[in-house]
Amino acid sequence: MGKYFDKVRFAITRIIQNNQNLLRTIRPRYDFRFAIVDYRDHPPESDYVYRKCDFTNHQAANTYIQNLKSDSGGDPPEAVLDGLDAACELNWRDNVDRLLFHISDSPPHGKIYHKFPEDRWPDGCLCGKTARDVLKKMKEKNISYHVLPCSNLLNMMITEFKTHIDVKILTFDDRITFEDVIARQVQQQLIDTEMTFRRT
Ligand SMILES: [Zn+2]
Repeated sequence: MGKYFDKVRFAITRIIQNNQNLLRTIRPRYDFRFAIVDYRDHPPESDYVYRKCDFTNHQAANTYIQNLKSDSGGDPPEAVLDGLDAACELNWRDNVDRLLFHISDSPPHGKIYHKFPEDRWPDGCLCGKTARDVLKKMKEKNISYHVLPCSNLLNMMITEFKTHIDVKILTFDDRITFEDVIARQVQQQLIDTEMTFRRT
């Protein structure tokens, strides 16, 4: 995932560049806040399950990302549900649009999410987290869930997640960059929010 760290920083910068003025027009007393959850896997597959930088300004979030190190070891599945659960538990503000961008190249543990022969926990994460519980919480907290698939290994996960929550899939390629696809989604959300304000 290491090669995506810079892209995430660019995405945060792009959100500020492209949308700060729009946000100020729509909601003058608000600003963008960013949080990061970086997850790996349960020991012994990895050294930590997840770490986080709770909501802060874009400079602090970017500094946090700059200090991230990637580590690929162990079996292909990762503690995806632990990461998403931690994201739900962040210090989300009230009365704001809540957007979560999940950047991933590996599925969660459990045979329902992938076809890898190697999975230390084929029945699912050993801590007992399930997509049903985690995504229910996400839905209750009004968090819009976006996935940026960084490999083609996430199809089964996405199909399963869709049975629990609305999944917005953001793809990026030569025509639209990683940072633009995220910044555009943020912009669209702002425009939608403005329309809702006008109607009410
Ligand atoms: Zn777990």
